Amino acid sequence: MKVRIGHLYPDYLNIYADRGNIAVFARRAAWRGHELEVEEMGMDTRVAPGAHDLYYVGGGQDREQALVARNMAAKAEGLKDAVVGGAAVLAVCGGYQLLGRFYRERSGVELPGVGLLPLHTVAGDRRMIGDVLLECELEPGRRRTLAGFENHAGRTILDSGAQPLGRVVSGFGNDGESGFEGCRVGRVVGTYLHGPLLPRNPWLADWLLAQALAHRTGETEAPELEPLGDALEAEAHAVSASRARARGGRYS
Ligand code: GLN
Repeated sequence: MKVRIGHLYPDYLNIYADRGNIAVFARRAAWRGHELEVEEMGMDTRVAPGAHDLYYVGGGQDREQALVARNMAAKAEGLKDAVVGGAAVLAVCGGYQLLGRFYRERSGVELPGVGLLPLHTVAGDRRMIGDVLLECELEPGRRRTLAGFENHAGRTILDSGAQPLGRVVSGFGNDGESGFEGCRVGRVVGTYLHGPLLPRNPWLADWLLAQALAHRTGETEAPELEPLGDALEAEAHAVSASRARARGGRYS
């Protein structure tokens, strides 16, 4: 099957090798006999609901976020319709912040967000930097860990009742206070975790790919993907997780 990815603002929002997440989707899809078709979506590209199975957006400095924010907010209706239609989304750090209602920079300038995730972000004085370890339960009863790297000034506040992506085992997470990281609404996942994220967390890559395949086939239930060896990925995860534990940070 051909899995269609819409990569939002790859020329602006791509730091800490975030682009590497696309390579992981491509390899893991190919190892199951699927093909990945990636459309780079910039300022002039319109979102056509149904045209993509998964949208991806990476992180970026305040400067790059300010350059794309209004253009991305103008794509809000298309993105919301696409998600209502069952498309999946992975958003990392600066991209994650812009999926909320707004990102307020340290200067007080407020960048408009897409409003796809029930949250807002306010930049603080001190950056939250280092390795992170989370405990997640995207599927009820199936607890897994996510390991990655964070570097952000933004403090993200989830609306009450909103579902975080995971509980912080070690690191700062959304705001260095709540003990939670990221946000998840159905097939939409937002996180502060760079790295890139997916090479050391293949289960999340497969979970998102399965959501994208379900959208492609019109299924409500995501298919179970054939497991892969993942020995190298497991090692990368273990190294990242042990660095996070060693580093400690607010919640070690
Ligand atoms: N500029 C945003 C912040 O500092 C996001 C940073 C990032 O994407 N790493 O919070």
